Order: sequence, then structure tokens, then C-alpha cells
Amino acid sequence: MFNSLSDRLNDTFDRLRGKGKLTEADITSAMRDIRMALLEADVNFKVVKDFVAKTKERCMTAEVMESLTPAQNVVKIVLDELTELLGSTESKLVLSSRIPNVIMLVGLQGSGKTTAAVKLAYLLKKQGRSPLLAACDVYRPAAADQLATLGGEIGVPVFRGDGKDAVEIARGSIREAVDNMRDVVIVDTAGRLQIDEQMMQEAVDIKRAVKPDQVLMVVDAMTGQDIVNVVSTFAERTDFDGVIISKLDGDARGGGALSVRQVTGKPIKFVSMGEKPDSLETFYPDRMAKRILG
Ligand code: GDP
Repeated sequence: MFNSLSDRLNDTFDRLRGKGKLTEADITSAMRDIRMALLEADVNFKVVKDFVAKTKERCMTAEVMESLTPAQNVVKIVLDELTELLGSTESKLVLSSRIPNVIMLVGLQGSGKTTAAVKLAYLLKKQGRSPLLAACDVYRPAAADQLATLGGEIGVPVFRGDGKDAVEIARGSIREAVDNMRDVVIVDTAGRLQIDEQMMQEAVDIKRAVKPDQVLMVVDAMTGQDIVNVVSTFAERTDFDGVIISKLDGDARGGGALSVRQVTGKPIKFVSMGEKPDSLETFYPDRMAKRILG
């Protein structure tokens, strides 16, 4: 992920470093390169526009242009702005004092919700919690089986209820958690390939029924320009408190990962770097920005 973006940005910085003193034309040309690199990584158009405008404004100051190491200052500004784009400060998952705590996952089908639910359960279990997974995806026939298998692998129980009525399963999972002293319920909901009214309504109904402490949206890192439509519909209907970016280990361009903070205004809480249960990591904007700049 981000390899080609990193290469492009570093080429741009190398060209600047080779120049010594920088002119306005040098900055303009570097900003054009950065704009192209971000667009090619499939970062949302408006996000790119704002990013480049802010970065350029900061680079065009006398303080930068007349400094002894102008190229280094430009690199520092790009790093700052990239960190800001990703959310500037980390946003850890904080559980409320309610028992059981309820975390609901939403997102498109195939975005990685079911695997994220398992990874989150594994993470919480390692932190000494007793999670319960609720299999509320009743549309994809294998979803509950997948959850049951993965839950078994990490030693976390999975509540399947009658396997038919997602809202009832969600409600039942809370009762099950109370009866069996499970302190966090992670609700895996049905996704849709595209926004679909019936399933959207179901997510709203589940939310109303279990009143989650937090709703996390799972977004595939490779989501491109379409990200605005996807997240804005979820934001409008179910709202959500934070984002899990999945598939950051892939070799896709990563536009979704770089756009989602600005497009949603919500913090990225975790990134998923693989299919294994232990591949969910807390997200640190500064580390990610540094990694992108290599
Ligand atoms: P859901 O439909 O949203 O529940 O999506 P799934 O959890 O079933 O994931 C869809 C596919 O993506 C599965 O084959 C997962 O193994 C895969 N997947 C999910 N997260 C990751 C990840 O972080 N990295 C990789 N490489 N694959 C992932």
C-alpha cells in the first residue's frame, strides 16, 4: 500500500533538494506533482484540492523560501499536513462503563466487517475483556458460519439466535451477554454491495434496538472516489463514531484510507493489515504519514 505514492512524493522532494534555493515556480511545480500523485492514489478529489491549497500556502511563505534548507521545510510541511489529513491525534477505542458495552459494525458487503468484528473481539479479549460476537448478517448465508468458525478459533462465543431476524438476534445477544457475564457485545451487521434501502433500514432498526455505545464503520482502504457516497449515506442513516480501515496490507492505491478522515470528519480508530485475528492495529496518524513519506 502507498508504495507508488511514496515513490512519487520522494521523487518530488529529491528534485526540490537538488535546487538549493526555491522559487515560487519550483513550489508550484512540486505542488502539481503532489496533486497528481494523490489523485493517482485515488484520494478523493476535494480532499486533494484542499490539501494542496493548504500545503502550498504554507510553503509559499518567506520563512520557508528564504530559509537555508527550503526543501527540508517543504518536506516537513507536507508531513504535517498529511498527519492532519489523517486526523492529527490518535483516537483510541474507549469503552463506556455500561455493561455490556455494545459496539456495532456497519459498512458495505465485502468491506471486511465480519473479520474486523473477530479481530476486535480478539483485541478486547487480550485486554482482559469477555466479548460476545452477535451474528446479525442474516442475508449472506455463510456469514454466521464464518463468524462462528473464526470466533471458535479465538475462543470467543458467537450468538446466532434464530438466524433469521437480525433485530431479534441483536436484542437476544444483549440478553445472552448479561446471562453469561460477557462485558462487550460486538454486533456484526449485514452489508450491502451498494447502498440498499431495506438493509440500511435494518441497520437503523438494530441501532435503535441495542443502543450501541459506539458504531464503527468499516471502510476498505481501496475505496476510491465513491467513498463520499458510501460514507455520507451511512453517516446520514446510522451515523457512526469512528472508522476501521481494512485491507491496508493490500497493494491497492489507498485513496480511501487517505480520504476517509476528511470526508467523514470521524476519527480512524483502527487499521486492519491482514486476514489473521491479530492484524488489527490502533491507528496513529503521525506514524502513517511518516510511513507514506518513507
Ligand atoms: P464483510 O462482508 O464486510 O463481512 O467482509 P468480510 O469480513 O467477509 O471480508 C471480505 C474479504 O476480505 C474476506 O475474504 C476477508 O478475509 C478479507 N479481508 C478483510 N479484512 C482484510 C484485511 O485487512 N486484509 C486482507 N488482506 N484481507 C482482508
